[in-house]
Amino acid sequence: MAQGRRPIFTVQKHRASRLHYDVRLEIGGTLASWAVPKGPSLDPAVKRLAVRVEDHDLDYADFEGVIEEGHYGAGPVLVWDIGWFEPAGDAAGGDTAATMLARGALDVVLHGRRLKGRFSLFEMKGRPGQWLLVKRRDADARPGVDVTETYGTSVLTGRTIEDLERAAAAGRLKTHRCGPYA
Ligand code: MN
Repeated sequence: MAQGRRPIFTVQKHRASRLHYDVRLEIGGTLASWAVPKGPSLDPAVKRLAVRVEDHDLDYADFEGVIEEGHYGAGPVLVWDIGWFEPAGDAAGGDTAATMLARGALDVVLHGRRLKGRFSLFEMKGRPGQWLLVKRRDADARPGVDVTETYGTSVLTGRTIEDLERAAAAGRLKTHRCGPYA
């Protein structure tokens, strides 16, 4: 890892045509991104589909507001969790976040407020772009807990998706024009 700043991880709750959670990890100067329809889980028995989507710019990591109508993913976005992560592969064997991403099997330790500890993200065999997100067993695992039910709000502002929808309807919300990605 480069000295100095720690790599960002963020999870944005996004109500586009369907509600989903965008999990993003700073790798190689950009935010590698996955759309997770059911959101992350702290239960190691739960595997969550995570569809790889386009990388996003680093400055999008703490965006909270509404993606404008007419742009892909139009709808409200809140920062559901944010923090930093460390790669948790075989460092002695040369694993970095970038090499693990390239081979489709990432092990990381998340340091967020709601998501902590070791997670794996791996691409399913024969299903390009379709990954699974799984909590590993450690002291931060919470079997039986649905963390997206425990926490529905923005970790930054306490707002809900409905709060953002009301603010957007009143024209009181920061807006964003996404590129061709969700
Ligand atoms: Mn999205």
